[in-house]
Amino acid sequence: MSSVDSKLYQYAVKTAKEAVALDNQGKKRQAINKYQRAAEILMQFMKYNKNPQMRMLCQKNIEEYVERAKILKSHLGGVSPRKIQQVERPSVSGVDDSEASAVSSEEQELIDMISSTIVTESPKVNWDDIAGLENVKQAVREAIVLPIAKPELFKGARRPWSGILLFGPPGCGKTLLAKAAATECKATFFSASSADLLSKWLGESEKLISSLFKVARLKAPSLIFMDEIDSVATKRGEGSESGGERRVKTQLLSEIQGLKSTYDKPLLVLGATNRPWDIDNAMLSRFEKRVHVPLPDMKARAGIFKIHTEGVNTELTDEDYVELAVRTEGYSGRDIANVCREVIMLPIRELDMSGLLESSDEEVNVRDISLKDFKKTLKKVKPMTNQALIKQYNDWAEEFGEV
Ligand code: ADP
Repeated sequence: MSSVDSKLYQYAVKTAKEAVALDNQGKKRQAINKYQRAAEILMQFMKYNKNPQMRMLCQKNIEEYVERAKILKSHLGGVSPRKIQQVERPSVSGVDDSEASAVSSEEQELIDMISSTIVTESPKVNWDDIAGLENVKQAVREAIVLPIAKPELFKGARRPWSGILLFGPPGCGKTLLAKAAATECKATFFSASSADLLSKWLGESEKLISSLFKVARLKAPSLIFMDEIDSVATKRGEGSESGGERRVKTQLLSEIQGLKSTYDKPLLVLGATNRPWDIDNAMLSRFEKRVHVPLPDMKARAGIFKIHTEGVNTELTDEDYVELAVRTEGYSGRDIANVCREVIMLPIRELDMSGLLESSDEEVNVRDISLKDFKKTLKKVKPMTNQALIKQYNDWAEEFGEV
């Protein structure tokens, strides 16, 4: 099986399992949707998979799912599909029971659809978990947190930016910033990666996008975070993109264009990209505010080392942290986090290799980590971003960015 095939198959299995779980809980309507989805996905899978045994198995499963959906439907009896029902518990997390509102079955179907593909969560990231980036944090608070938390201040000409773009090298805190913003303003947070949006093999990306925006409106105040936005609307694809890709892009453009967050129901879209120069002009113009999230400066790097060694015994002084920051020019936050993870494991690895972790009743003494450990590890872990790339970000920021 190719990786796309096996992904599709796994997705079908996952959906079927969810259907069975809902069925067991007596959530008939949701179970019906899931059984139907699982059958649809398997049908797609069969288009590509020619293995006769696999096809037979799929055919059998499809029949089972369709049959079960039929039975459940007959149990629903005369309930009109449009009848407003109270959701037992919205399947979109981040919305607590007290907020459970009347949702039509059609809307429930949308919620089911996006919740199996798009991550919705209540992030718990505080601004203090992000070292440095003071200007960026301020810009993100102004563009996202305040319009959602204090919508009454953002009416008339002082309307919020509906599309905000975070751009910069990978691993420098774009996702962290989005999560911190969502945590502070208590918005429902939808996180979609371009891989979700472009799930072409399901042939339903457009429906997925429109469902995402509908549910986000329903659950407003909402923040939609779209990572790797460049892959949905890439310049490289212009002219050569398939009809499907073009439709997805057009759908997304029109959703962002049509975003009218009324002041009591704010809905903002936050895009993120490591390749801002690849975003096509139509999409770029939808992101009115563009915020550069650069590589961490010296002070930020020292802070990132501290954050990622928190709670672990170290011999490190403040001067040592500064020395580490000096030695890691060009490293991203993720690079530094990886170095810390590696170093933190050293004492444990040593204990393990000397067999000291084998007897469970003896108390083991884990040694403190030292500057020497870091120096050794830094020789092995090199930064991912080079000077030429940094210049490319700076040039782009100068021409198109804001911060
Ligand atoms: P991206 O810019 O690619 O979205 P992320 O926000 O996902 O990057 O960051 C990747 C990881 O790197 C984070 O989970 C965190 O561990 C670490 N990191 C990056 N920047 C910072 C920072 N400024 N402060 C603390 N940790 C950071």
